[in-house]
Amino acid sequence: MRTIDDHPVRRDVPRLFIPGPVEVEDEILQAMTRPMIGHRAPEFTILGETLHRDSQRFFRTENPVYILTSSGTGGMETAVRNGVRENVLCFVNGAFSERFYKVCVANGKNATRVDIPWGEAIKPEKVREELSRGDFDSVTIVHNETSTGVMSPLADIAEVVAEQDDVFLLVDAITSAAAVPIHLGEMATVDFLTTGSQKALALPPGLALLAISERALERAETIENRGLYFDLLAMHKSWKKNQTPSTPSIALMQALKDRLAMILADEDGWYGGHQERADLTREWARNRFALFAESGFESVSLTCIENTRGISIADLNSALRENDMFLSNGYGDLKEKTFRIGHMGAVTIDDTKELLGLIDQFVASR
Ligand SMILES: *Cc1c(COP(=O)(O)O)cnc(C)c1O
Repeated sequence: MRTIDDHPVRRDVPRLFIPGPVEVEDEILQAMTRPMIGHRAPEFTILGETLHRDSQRFFRTENPVYILTSSGTGGMETAVRNGVRENVLCFVNGAFSERFYKVCVANGKNATRVDIPWGEAIKPEKVREELSRGDFDSVTIVHNETSTGVMSPLADIAEVVAEQDDVFLLVDAITSAAAVPIHLGEMATVDFLTTGSQKALALPPGLALLAISERALERAETIENRGLYFDLLAMHKSWKKNQTPSTPSIALMQALKDRLAMILADEDGWYGGHQERADLTREWARNRFALFAESGFESVSLTCIENTRGISIADLNSALRENDMFLSNGYGDLKEKTFRIGHMGAVTIDDTKELLGLIDQFVASR
């Protein structure tokens, strides 16, 4: 078993099958130990240039992709502060889409929430119907609900939002980006789309990528109280110089550079691996338990399994820990009613098989 120096006791660290943070291979962690560079020095602008180019390739977009030193929630806050004028429609089908609504409220926006049962996806028809009920300038959705294991059809939703004149689409793609291809240049306008480094990008926590549309900056200019740290106009001004407004996490950016290069070098292998782990886990879960997600909308990033056998998930995790593994209990009210297996990060199909085998052993031993 691997260990870390976590003073005063040296302790064991289980392999992560939770939906973030995820396993990061040593090779990528090593990138974080490169010598420190000044963030206004020419060495940094070389790094910035590479990152900006590769993140645009990653999203297949010509528009800016900013690199934020914050967790994913900072990306959500940036989208809300700079993208919502006043009236925002928030689709809530789990804990993270509820957070998006709360970010809107906390930033003084007039937010209307549409609740959809947990486990169900946000459907384009529903978005069209709800949009017609009021005068909204923005919509928020979570592409992949990490609390329920549901992936909503982003491209179809973008089409529907684009039917409206001047309605912005804000997307939390924190657990979908890098688990499935998101080619922004090939779909209807998505105005803000954010990721978080510790999810499918398979890096330590601390960075968020934020992709914007061609019209996003224009709207941001008309919005007051954008704040300072998350001001899009300031970000853009620095971005043009391949820099960031304040001191970024240079170490994490070094790791991001290697990760993006790795993904871009073999996109089929990278995305295919996620799909393979998800397919295997789903098949297993259907045979042994049941899937929590609505059929046809199961997440590729994680599988949320309904605990139809009534096993103790807490005990399961203790047993797994003895074998150097660790998964996630259900989120909030879904605790013990469901459990979640992540497919993100540096895990292989064999690791996944090993995990499922251990769960089988645990179930058989009850
Ligand atoms: C993890 C997660 C977040 C929150 O991200 P932080 O990095 O913890 O701020 C938001 N949305 C989704 C869908 C997530 O999975």
